Amino acid sequence: QAKNEGRGTYKFADSSKNRLAQDRLLLGSALHETVSKGLLHLYYQPQIDTMTGELYGVEALARWHHPHLGNIFPSRFIAVAEETGQIAAIGRWSLQEACRQMAQWDREGIHVPTVAVNLSAAHFGDHSVPEYIAGLLRTYDLTPDRLTVEITENVMMESGKTTHDVLQAIRNIGVGLSMDDFGTGYSSLSRLTRLPLTEIKIDRSFINDFEHDTNAQAVTTAVIGIGNRLGMTVVTEGVETVQQRQLLEDLKCDVMQGYLFAKPLPADELEKWIRTREAGEA
Ligand code: C2E
Ligand code: MG
Ligand code: MG
Ligand code: MG
Repeated sequence: QAKNEGRGTYKFADSSKNRLAQDRLLLGSALHETVSKGLLHLYYQPQIDTMTGELYGVEALARWHHPHLGNIFPSRFIAVAEETGQIAAIGRWSLQEACRQMAQWDREGIHVPTVAVNLSAAHFGDHSVPEYIAGLLRTYDLTPDRLTVEITENVMMESGKTTHDVLQAIRNIGVGLSMDDFGTGYSSLSRLTRLPLTEIKIDRSFINDFEHDTNAQAVTTAVIGIGNRLGMTVVTEGVETVQQRQLLEDLKCDVMQGYLFAKPLPADELEKWIRTREAGEA
């Protein structure tokens, strides 16, 4: 199960079990204080509307500023947080912080249409999550279409009745539901149609070597077709080269996200990025 999670993160290999065991010891005990001590931060990565080239929205990605170890990436601490049960607090914090930031941007006249927040499988076993989300939208005076919840395919695999009900309740509020990392898990296409999804994000492993990989192009073309026919927005992540962007434009992929446009940025740097871009367009 070799999977390159990118720079600053570790690669899964035979030793991934050992690494997880080490992280559990090293990070597990420190993790429970991160939220309360304000050591968790959200970075925001722009998503670009392929047709217009305008900002479609941002994805919020958690970063843990550890006092001794520096910036720890989610690929190291999310798994530990899931094991220790800390993920429930992290997910609620991420939702709240993203909504708070959106309200602040609104007040400052910085136009960010939507924010996407990643949630783990554990949240969809909790019937109180939809009401929590609805409460946040009220508190921060955001319409539900400003928020998207990203789920991974393992959520679909565990999709018992509770998961389905919670997802449906979130969707009923009017919040978007995105299937993240699509194509890497084991979910079936029939499940794709049974969940109330509004968006598919094609995993970046398909985009990695897109220019040269005709198989990846074939799969991506098919998924864009399926997604569009199902009325969903199709997003590609991991767009790094101009050539990849050009091909995805030709394929009419709805939204693109990747280092070509910007890396995940702290809120103030995202604001600068947006201002610079708007100045360039004017
Ligand atoms: P994801 O949701 O699929 O997020 C996309 C990941 O791809 C991010 O890694 C992002 O930095 C990276 N990325 C974006 N563009 C490019 C690119 O052009 N090239 C390459 N090589 N990588 C790119 P990150 O921030 O390390 O996050 C990793 C994963 O951790 C996320 O994958 C998401 O599943 C999870 N995660 C992040 N924040 C949270 C959170 O608050 N809660 C939960 N449950 N999971 C989170
Ligand atoms: Mg995501
Ligand atoms: Mg993804
Ligand atoms: Mg991922």
